[in-house]
Amino acid sequence: MRRPIIAGNWKMNKTIEEAVSVAVGLKRKFYTFSEADIVICPPFTALSKVSDKIIDSSIMLGAQDVYSEEDGAFTGAISPNMLKDAGCRYVIVGHSEKRALFGETDEDVNKKLKIALKHGMVPIMCAGERIEERDNGMTFEILEKQITRGLKNIPRDEALRIIIAYEPVWAIGTGRTATPQQAQEAHKFIRELIERLYDKEVASKTRIQYGGSVKPENIANLMIQEDIDGALVGGASLDVNSFTEIVRNAVL
Ligand code: PEP
Repeated sequence: MRRPIIAGNWKMNKTIEEAVSVAVGLKRKFYTFSEADIVICPPFTALSKVSDKIIDSSIMLGAQDVYSEEDGAFTGAISPNMLKDAGCRYVIVGHSEKRALFGETDEDVNKKLKIALKHGMVPIMCAGERIEERDNGMTFEILEKQITRGLKNIPRDEALRIIIAYEPVWAIGTGRTATPQQAQEAHKFIRELIERLYDKEVASKTRIQYGGSVKPENIANLMIQEDIDGALVGGASLDVNSFTEIVRNAVL
């Protein structure tokens, strides 16, 4: 039985004060909560302060990105040590916005996964097709390419730590969610791909989140699908009440 995991990606939103206020609000709701893993991913500037607030609760901290080097002359980049120092255990890698707006490649994703794993972090690796790729029947091909290249030369014991987020690009921030059937079909394909790349045990243990306009109203029908183990939530994770409802409805 895979433990559900709901993560909130706050993207480029919230000052430190605003982020702390949401984190404190969530901590009140989920001071002790054992039915799912809950992760929040504030912007870099707020990580440390948010970490101080949630440290003794069941909410865990994640970052939205990591750079693939240990340290050095990489202006604007953040290393895994810096993230861990700020209290992060999780890190999102390969989000479609990083791929589309910042030119992140599958090779970059692979390097980032490796360094995050080396530092004992839990990566959330995103993959998903664009609308024209879905319309051209290329969804599985795109998923296979992104995931196979992303996981290249990652040993099975480390792969067991990776969470995969299926995020159809056409559903992110658009209000247009994949139907539970569309999501399940993609998740099943991903699980079978993990089995081909590793083995049955890794496939059955890997948690696969769905991401793309997840809301309190649609999470339950997604979560009842066999291969959907949680959600990566953008917009609806910015508000204490909507994220709380999503987490609660996910484990109904
Ligand atoms: C995301 O950014 O990962 C995401 C799924 O965003 P939204 O929930 O807003 O579609």
